[in-house]
Amino acid sequence: MKITFFSTKPYDKEFFDKVNKDFNFELEYFETHLGPHILNVIEHSDAVCAFVNDTLNAEVLESLSKKGMKYIALRCAGFNNVDLEAAKRLGIRVSRVPAYSPEAVAEHAMAMILTLNRKTHKAYNRVREQNFSLNGLMGFNLYQKTIGVIGTGNIGTAFAKIAKGFGAKILAYDITENQELKDLGIEYVSMDELLSQSDIISLHCPLMDATHHLINKESISKMKENVMLINTSRGGLIDTKAVIDGLKSKHIGYLGIDVYEQEEKLFFRDLSHTIIEDDTIQRLMSFPNVLVTAHQAFFTEEALHQIATSTLTSLSNFEANNEFENPNAVLV
Ligand code: NAD
Repeated sequence: MKITFFSTKPYDKEFFDKVNKDFNFELEYFETHLGPHILNVIEHSDAVCAFVNDTLNAEVLESLSKKGMKYIALRCAGFNNVDLEAAKRLGIRVSRVPAYSPEAVAEHAMAMILTLNRKTHKAYNRVREQNFSLNGLMGFNLYQKTIGVIGTGNIGTAFAKIAKGFGAKILAYDITENQELKDLGIEYVSMDELLSQSDIISLHCPLMDATHHLINKESISKMKENVMLINTSRGGLIDTKAVIDGLKSKHIGYLGIDVYEQEEKLFFRDLSHTIIEDDTIQRLMSFPNVLVTAHQAFFTEEALHQIATSTLTSLSNFEANNEFENPNAVLV
């Protein structure tokens, strides 16, 4: 099988080449995003391996189908960038990596909380300039604070367990409750209760119609004053303009985002010599209480190894018409 990769970075190539020694697929790598602009480069390929910001809408899928493409393997968990209905209609099988390392993302969410709270990024720079003053660095104890977790799937569950380890009270909201968390004493409450009682809110639900702009003017108005909001899930969960208003009015005290609605024009690239035209991200980055990381929550050695193994295993299963060990890996 020949697999054509898009949005490839050096680390993708390193891990996929290593893992492919057990599969012997033909791998072809492109650095560019997948979208209508690049379809002409694809030749005699059986599968596309795509990432979070690749475009797999009906138009792209139809062109891929005409080129004989049989499989799409997403090397990520979220699949909001794929038109699954179109894939089904065209007979293209689609897989994803449902749970490569939930701890990688959950630990990054906690890293964002600790950084925003204890301001270690500011302390690091300050001390290097021989400024040993503590003014402006005061944080708060996580112990006995209330942390709200929205979405308690693989990542939300891992995050809730970590947060519980700090001695915080954990509130959870999900459309389905996880018994394992209930057994740990984690309480499921309504969304309104979670919003109004939490000192910190961390988002771990997928982006879909029902969750688009879940955090908006109205939901922010229900939150505690000075709340900390963390989003390592998908940018579209947050109405960024409403969050900026919340930061300006000081209703939101801290914001940590690893994902951003318009991230496909920015993230995973070095734009240090470029004029960024996106005024919204520039405004966000101007707040001293906002931490932006560029979709790096998944980025651990363990996760990259697991992503490569799971992606190539799915393609091998498709090809051999095998049963999938984890049915959640198959989307179509
Ligand atoms: P998952 O499918 O295991 O869990 C998602 C949970 O959200 C489920 O329990 C589901 O019931 C719940 N949910 C669905 N609709 C909901 C709603 N309307 N309100 C509340 N909860 C709802 O997924 P996961 O592996 O935990 O991943 C969660 C998300 O994290 C993914 O969708 C992806 O977008 C994001 N993610 C980000 C990174 C990163 O690097 N930043 C990496 C991996 C995944």
